[in-house]
Amino acid sequence: MFKNYFKNRYLRYLNIKKTLREMDALNERLIREKEIRQEFFANASHELKTPITSIRGYAELLESDMIKDEDTKRDMISRIKKEADHMNMLIADILEVSKLESNEFRPDIMRVDMSVLIDEAIETFRPRAEDMEISLYNYAKPGVFVYADYGHMDEIVSNLVSNAIRYNRRNGKVWIHAVNEGGFMELRVRDTGIGIPKSECSRIFERFYRVDKGRSRVTGGTGLGLSIVKHIVSCYKGSIEVNSKTGSGSEFIVRIPERFEK
Ligand code: ADP
Repeated sequence: MFKNYFKNRYLRYLNIKKTLREMDALNERLIREKEIRQEFFANASHELKTPITSIRGYAELLESDMIKDEDTKRDMISRIKKEADHMNMLIADILEVSKLESNEFRPDIMRVDMSVLIDEAIETFRPRAEDMEISLYNYAKPGVFVYADYGHMDEIVSNLVSNAIRYNRRNGKVWIHAVNEGGFMELRVRDTGIGIPKSECSRIFERFYRVDKGRSRVTGGTGLGLSIVKHIVSCYKGSIEVNSKTGSGSEFIVRIPERFEK
């Protein structure tokens, strides 16, 4: 009888200890998530301050009447517009990150024909590619499909194609493949661009991480594209990897289950 009493008390004690350990772990996770969120907002404000400072600087110069040359004035106005466009893109990406983070992942699942989606992305990016004489190729056969939210698949393809152009060379090429294989839709975006050093390949998926900050900014990058892609891919329980060689190009490979399961 006594033995049972002590045994039960000991089991209760072990249970309480386990619950306390779980609460500690949960607490630590919440603190870490809060820190990540704070870091994100600090970075986002810093990123937004850069274009605001430029816009203000150009506006003050124009206001001061110090600039007499009409060409210089026009150049400044076009720089103001460019900085405003950059801010717009940053805000759109920040909103996308916060939407994905809000735990409200409610995809509108439909059968997405990847070949059609890639054609549409190519049409959207053609003017930018032509500026650098870059050729875009769609190698996805008609009928390659995935059951997913069209907007999410578009976000993935658009980000990868946009980067493949942004970090390419004049006269370069971008190949986009998609196939159904082993229950997955596999998307590959390959370019003939500057490539990514091996040591940086795992970091490029972090928010606001850029290998070459100058090139990213000049070409309109926000530093959030790949982190958004990685987040979407993980919501679909898929994977993303990159193979790259400095100086000769990169290939991004995304695998998403053909059928979405919660
Ligand atoms: P960004 O808006 O700066 O392009 P991303 O999150 O899309 O932000 O990419 C992060 C960084 O990864 C880029 O700044 C660039 O340094 C590198 N990167 C991404 N895609 C490529 C690519 N196709 N070729 C070379 N570097 C790339």
